[in-house]
Amino acid sequence: MTRLIFLGAPGAGKGTQAKILSSEYYIPHISTGDILRTAVQQQTALGVKAQSYMDRGELVPDQLLYDLIRERLTQPDTVEQGWILDGFPRTLPQAEFLDGLVAEVNQPYEYVVYITVPDEALVQRLLGRGRKDDNEVVIRNRLRVYYEQTAPLTDYYSKLGKLVDIQGDKSEEEVTAQLKALLSR
Ligand code: AMP
Repeated sequence: MTRLIFLGAPGAGKGTQAKILSSEYYIPHISTGDILRTAVQQQTALGVKAQSYMDRGELVPDQLLYDLIRERLTQPDTVEQGWILDGFPRTLPQAEFLDGLVAEVNQPYEYVVYITVPDEALVQRLLGRGRKDDNEVVIRNRLRVYYEQTAPLTDYYSKLGKLVDIQGDKSEEEVTAQLKALLSR
């Protein structure tokens, strides 16, 4: 059973690496960005509320994420096979919510994987990705939001003794190798 939280700036490779580990080890991958993008596409109540924040590169309000995470963590696949959380938590209240939830449902996580990549490399990667919220103005805003609201979580998890640094400024294969080494500890 593996439960991991992936932390890192937009473009650090969280999604790419989560997908690789998910398919090789059969660990359910939970990407809140993917879930929200689907909700926007389908114009569900959640999607309608989230859309304007996402288009601007802002975080959607914490409250919108909580039901979604609680539901996803109590489905049979995640209960039985664990999870990789990619893109959640992104704020301190989200981290505290998650710690409350995992205690309640008895799903402790092993590590918080902190994937680090220098800023300029991030911008170049994001510009190359071509997603709707990947134009330069929105990218700069997402990085600012990341440093203001999400980066402080490294302190929170480091104090809990959960934080593991992974160097993300390497080839995809090298980053995957670092993660596999961690999982075989
Ligand atoms: P991502 O695909 O993880 O880069 O997420 C894309 C966008 O979805 C972000 O820029 C936010 O607007 C929104 N989002 C995803 N996860 C969260 C979260 N945990 N809290 C708030 N907003 C989120």
